[in-house]
Amino acid sequence: MGKPLTTNNLSRTGSLWTEALKTVKIRINPTTYNLWIEPLIPASLEEGLFTVETPDAFFAGWVQNHYGETILSAVRSLDSTITKVVFSPKKHSDDLAGGFESFGSQKPASLPYSPKNGFGVNLNPLYTFENFIIGDSNRLAHAAALSVAQSPGTAYNPLFIYGQVGVGKTHLMQAIGNFIKSQVNCKVAYLSSEQFLNEFIESLQKKSTAQFRNKFRELDLLLIDDIQFIGGKEETQREFFHTFNALYDYHKQVVLSSDRPPKELKNLEKRLVSRFEWGLVVDIQPPDLETRVAILNNKALLKNFPLSSEISFYLAEKIEGNVRLLEGALNKLIACAGLYNKKTIDVKFIEEILQDFIRKQHEKQSITFDMIQEWVSNYFNVKVSDLKSARRQQSFVFPRQIAIYLSRIFIGASLPQIGEFFGGKNHTTILYTCRKIEDKIKNNVNFKEEIERIINKFKQDLSKI
Ligand code: ADP
Ligand code: MG
Repeated sequence: MGKPLTTNNLSRTGSLWTEALKTVKIRINPTTYNLWIEPLIPASLEEGLFTVETPDAFFAGWVQNHYGETILSAVRSLDSTITKVVFSPKKHSDDLAGGFESFGSQKPASLPYSPKNGFGVNLNPLYTFENFIIGDSNRLAHAAALSVAQSPGTAYNPLFIYGQVGVGKTHLMQAIGNFIKSQVNCKVAYLSSEQFLNEFIESLQKKSTAQFRNKFRELDLLLIDDIQFIGGKEETQREFFHTFNALYDYHKQVVLSSDRPPKELKNLEKRLVSRFEWGLVVDIQPPDLETRVAILNNKALLKNFPLSSEISFYLAEKIEGNVRLLEGALNKLIACAGLYNKKTIDVKFIEEILQDFIRKQHEKQSITFDMIQEWVSNYFNVKVSDLKSARRQQSFVFPRQIAIYLSRIFIGASLPQIGEFFGGKNHTTILYTCRKIEDKIKNNVNFKEEIERIINKFKQDLSKI
């Protein structure tokens, strides 16, 4: 063993830390690294004790518990005399404005909000790539969107992004739009599929369909959000199909979003589904806790309301899944902090202010058979009576199986009980249905994903009740 180091030389400490980070970086995923490791500041190295400063006490505890060993082994591999790494909170950092300066690296968007193209001016200037937090749940979608923005019309055409509400589809689409709009002479249009439909109908009424067509076909980038709403509107689908083909033929970029993958879009012409699958289909999953914390911090900074890490963690943990809810909670918090002239935000204040948000998330819902049957009937567009019947058409069988399966896992009801609520079926029929679904989940990845999506949507809709 070498001599213990007794130097407090900052440059030595700093360079040791920089070297150690190279190892740490390989072992930890990038979001975590940005969130937890980047903010750390090496403070001193004395008698084998390496002290690292953290933004606040909560941060210190978290890093110690989660990454302490990784960090110790990285510094020890460079200097074996180090026996301990101590994470010590920086002073005066637990008030409202303190802590988490590290997130200052996420700059607010600076792209101009230019109406010069007269089209697609409804892009939110804050929905940029810079403001989009990357995590495991959206990494692929982000990479695809970025490469589409960098080489429109060539990388992936169309790009089809799907995922449940509030996972960042609109943000990512508009980031592509903002990116491309900042290039000269690029015509961009961003519309929801409903707006597309409305414009089309208006052009029919005004007998100006030729203008409508030209307007769209002159675009460099067409972004259509929430394409699922186009289902069933046959004339609009036909028009969209032609617009799509015209743009595609001229190597113009099309980006689409939806709450489900193309194959699961209801009442959509087959040829349109297959067009949607020509390019790249990517999904965005709900963000994990660490990504939610990072998103929340980013939003808070953009609103000039930095949060301490304890607070952002508390919020991100309590309000799961939907980022929009998290943002709503943040807005309410900011408004109330101003109203009550609060300089320091603590958990108690948050609990008072955000009771509704938090209760909604955590109160155990008592789910009933009626709720499940109703939801499934809406989701699949079938009647509740068809779910209870014994009709063998495939369009009823699958929704019925799903309703039975959801009843089993969400209500935990017995087989005979479920049978009773599904038109008096025998318990063996119910057992057979549940087994069939479980087996298929085990053996078919696509099916498993579809079921997960349905369950997530169900849970999400439930939280709105
Ligand atoms: P969706 O279109 O999937 O329903 P949105 O794009 O409207 O979701 O996102 C809802 C809110 O959450 C927006 O304010 C968006 O900026 C934010 N958001 C979602 N994901 C991210 C992310 N990865 N990084 C930053 N903000 C995000
Ligand atoms: Mg959206």
